[in-house]
Formats: sequence, structure tokens, C-alpha cells
Amino acid sequence: MPREFPLAIHWFRRDLRTLDNLALHHASKAAKGVIPVYVVSNWKDEHLWTGPNRQSFLCDSLASLDKNLQVIGGRLIIRSGNAVEALLGLAAETGAQAIFYNQDPDPFGKSTESHLEESCESRGIACRGYHDHTLHPPGEVLTQTGEPYRVFTPYSKNWLQLEKPAPVAKPKVLATPAEIASDNLPTLEHWNLNPAGEQILKAGERAAHDRLKRALKERLINYKDLRDIPSTPGTSRISQDLRFGLLSPRTVYAKTAKLLEEFPNQVGIQTFIKELAWREFYMAILHHYPHVLEDEFSPAWRGLPWDEPDEKFEAWKEGRTGFPIIDAGIRELLATGFMHNRVRMIVAMFLTKDLHIDWRLGEQFFMQHLTDGEIASNNGGWQWSAGTGADAAPYFRIQNPWSQTKRYDPKGTYIKRWVPELVDVPAKALLEAPKDGKPIAADYPLPCVDHKTERDRTLAIFKRHKQELGRATL
Ligand code: FAD
Repeated sequence: MPREFPLAIHWFRRDLRTLDNLALHHASKAAKGVIPVYVVSNWKDEHLWTGPNRQSFLCDSLASLDKNLQVIGGRLIIRSGNAVEALLGLAAETGAQAIFYNQDPDPFGKSTESHLEESCESRGIACRGYHDHTLHPPGEVLTQTGEPYRVFTPYSKNWLQLEKPAPVAKPKVLATPAEIASDNLPTLEHWNLNPAGEQILKAGERAAHDRLKRALKERLINYKDLRDIPSTPGTSRISQDLRFGLLSPRTVYAKTAKLLEEFPNQVGIQTFIKELAWREFYMAILHHYPHVLEDEFSPAWRGLPWDEPDEKFEAWKEGRTGFPIIDAGIRELLATGFMHNRVRMIVAMFLTKDLHIDWRLGEQFFMQHLTDGEIASNNGGWQWSAGTGADAAPYFRIQNPWSQTKRYDPKGTYIKRWVPELVDVPAKALLEAPKDGKPIAADYPLPCVDHKTERDRTLAIFKRHKQELGRATL
């Protein structure tokens, strides 16, 4: 078959895989030779929205991708700096006539894409972007009047009944020219970062497929019952794989749908599919309402009087608030780059409703540590917990960290795993604030606040804000 281009670039971004990769698939069909490239960003030292856990996972994923590309006659070219300049430089150097890429759902990624498209057009280079990061582009799931959804349930009903795109074939051969110069694969030193947490999951396409396989085989059937129990491996653990595109959402959906055919109406599998829809809901929210990165989704809650971050915020960040479930969650995050979803909700609500700290600071802290740190889902999760987001928890529904522990970790198994000071403490003592005013273990602090007092304060703040807003809009 005649090919459209002798040589094309595939720009890897958040699609670090060879299997079921839409733009790579099209590049390999359209060009005789494909140059796979990743452009490493050049920021140094502190970055408010990322940190060693995610960057370490990225480095390992790139190393693994390079190996996988070699199997199909390719290799990963590494460049660094401004992505548009690096790609245009590579095209000029090699004579590549086209650049293929999968679109990025984040605002920064989108603006880089438009810049690239303009630059390519003026130079006569073909530039082809594909929608690959979700099953449905944000503009495909709209209300009957063509408006974006603001509430999850109707969004998910629509999303569920839409036909899903099927996986695409892996390229057979890339025929990357041998002589192209490449920087070394990056390591954390590239950004002057400290070492990552000790228990970060294994990166790479193979490891991601192993996780998916295990989830399908062992976890999804019981997903509805076990997904809220943080001490149990009841969820898929593929969030970082979707974040970095080690797995494609098409593959995840296709394999899950096949399992559902084997077990029709199985509620665990159905619940899991709905979680995939939450991911796409928050991406749609970010797409249609990009202001959520700065402001509350709901105008009613803009300008709430948050407290200045103080020593209690520091204690929260270090996992020493004296609330065992909160401290366990933060310590899990610091050690593994992951926190169980149920605990993320408890920890986030505690920061905003018990410590009265602005959700944006929690959002930033999570982005610095989460391996799956995904701007849309993280923002959605934080605004949900703060009560300010799309389809958020109403402000008056404030979770009590003690009752949440009773419900989801009654034996303290999860707590004891992450807070070694509490290993010998009887489970009962982990389920309520100490009544005698004494610490429950020698090296463990007393609760830094009284939940009931802070809950009442939050209710008063939100109520007052609502009343003031009412007066202002009269
Ligand atoms: P599973 O339960 O197996 O779910 C399967 C997949 O569905 C996940 O991998 C994820 O892609 C998606 N998903 C599940 N729940 C949600 C959800 N509530 N919102 C969006 N997508 C979801 N998820 C991220 O991927 N990145 C984040 O940065 C992130 N930040 C969060 C912050 C807060 C405050 C909260 C409350 C939630 C956040 N979540 C985030 C959602 C959720 O906690 C994780 O997706 C989930 O814990 C990942 O574990 P898993 O892969 O085992 O999930």
C-alpha cells in the first residue's frame, strides 16, 4: 500500500504504550517510517503541581516504552524543553512531513497543541491530533439541548448507552531511522527531585496489563462490596495507568464489557464501569468549565473565608493530626504515591471541614504526591469534598472521621498498616477521640481538633456565606 508520508513523528505524551494507541496506529499506517519522541519538560526544583512519585513513574514508563518500541523496529527519541520547538526542530532535522499525537485533556496540553498546529501549518507539516484519552470526547456527551451536564447521574446514563470505540491494532513495524540523536532517558535528577516514595507501583505497559488482568480476574466481581474497604485490595489500581496511558480506556472498557457478557447484570462489574464514567465526567467538567482550576465550580461558594494554613495544616501533611484514619491515609500517600478512594474523601473533607483549609491547598498537595495525579479527577474530588463542585456533597453533609473509621476500618487493619505507633492499640481506641484526654499511644498526638466543634463552625460559615450572597444578589 502506498504511504502518505515517507517519515512521520509520533509525539508521545500521556499515551505511553504501543498497544491500542490511536495516533501511533494511524502514524504507522500513514508513514513508511515513524519517529517516536517524548519531550521532557525542563522545570527544576519545586513544582507546585508535581513531585517525585509521579515523575519517577513517568521515567520508568518511558524506559519500558523504549524497550517495547524496539520490539517493533522503533526506539524512543528523547528531547527536552519547549515541546513545540523540540518537535519542529526534530521535523527540520529529519525531514519528517507529519506529526501525529493524541490530544491531552488538560488546559496546558491543549494550548500547546494549538500552538503546534499553527506552527505546523505555516511550515507545511501535517499535524494530526486524535481523541484517545477518554472513550467519549467531552462534546459527545451532552444534554438533549446540547448543554454540558453538571450532574453525574444523567451524564452517566447518557455515557453508558453510547456505543464505545473498539481497540485499534498495535503497529507491526515502525522503521525508525537509526541515525537520529536522542538525549538519555530521564531520571529524577533531571528535575532536581528527591527520591520517590519507597512503594511506588511498577511502571510500564506490561505491569499495567498485569494489574488490569488481576482486577478482571479477582476484583471486579466483588467490586461493589469491597471497593470502600481500604484494608482490602478491592479496587483495580489502574488509575496511574490510565493517567499515563499505559492502558487505553478502550482496552479497559472492552475487556470489562467482555467480562460483563460472561456475568450478565453482575453489579460489581457494572459499578466499576460507572467509575470509568466518573473519570470522563470530571474531564468533561474541566473541558467545559476550565475556571474550576481557579475557582469553585459553583458561584455560590466563591469567596468562602478559609483559614490561613497553620501548624494543623502541617500536621495534616505529615500524617500526625491525631485522627488515625487521616494519618494512615496521608502516610499511605507519602509511601506509595496512592491513597484509597474512600480515604481520599475522608482526608479531603477533614482538611476543608474540620481544619477549614482552602481545598486548593489540598488539591496541590495531592498533585505533588499522587502517582495517578490527574488534574480533572483531583480537582473534581477536592471540590466534591469541599462541597463546592459539580454534583458535590452538600455542604451540610459532613463526614465524621470517627464514624467513617467505624464503618470502613472497624478493626483498624488499614490504620495499623500505615501508622506503626498504633499497632498495639486496641481497635476500639481507634474509633473515637480519647475520652480521658490522654494520647492513645506514646508517640502519637492527641486529635488536633474536636470534630463536633469544627463541624458546627463549618455549618455556620457556609450558612452565613449563603445568606450574605443572598443579600448581595437582591
Ligand atoms: P477503581 O476503583 O478501580 O476505579 C477504576 C478507575 O475509575 C480508576 O482507576 C479511575 O480512573 C476511575 N475512577 C474511580 N473513581 C473515580 C473518581 N471518583 N473520580 C474520577 N475517576 C475515578 N483519581 C485519579 O485518577 N487521579 C487523581 O488525581 C484523583 N484525585 C482524587 C482526589 C480526591 C480528593 C478524591 C476524593 C478522589 C480522587 N481520585 C483521583 C479518584 C479516585 O480516588 C481514584 O481514581 C481511585 O482511588 C483510583 O484507584 P483505582 O484505580 O483502584 O480505582
